[in-house]
Amino acid sequence: MTSASTADTLPACPECREEYTYEQGALLVCPMCGHEWTAGEADDAAASAQVTDAVGNVLADGDTVTIVKSLKVKGSGSGTLKIGTKVRGIRLTGDAGDGHDIDATVPGFGRMKLKSSIVKKVL
Ligand SMILES: [Zn+2]
Repeated sequence: MTSASTADTLPACPECREEYTYEQGALLVCPMCGHEWTAGEADDAAASAQVTDAVGNVLADGDTVTIVKSLKVKGSGSGTLKIGTKVRGIRLTGDAGDGHDIDATVPGFGRMKLKSSIVKKVL
């Protein structure tokens, strides 16, 4: 193995999942479907798109989740959001710096922000 080939480490095509990716300058190219992208782009997308719940399921906009950790809700009286509460149609907002990365309308509480670490996706 004296070759400096990087074929083994190039990512599969994000479009068609074929693994014949080759490098063309700064671009990664898929000969199967013709898709061109940059490694940096793919990394950024993966890093910002992957929001996981308490057990590692990847969450997406519109998912239904249940609360796995009861928590006191500030600003709407003195309610406690109970374990098992079902929340439909979550929206991923990205972590604003305080760990809250989900925007959702919670039954009985209205619209609020949640942490992905205290929800579990309903599969
Ligand atoms: Zn492809």
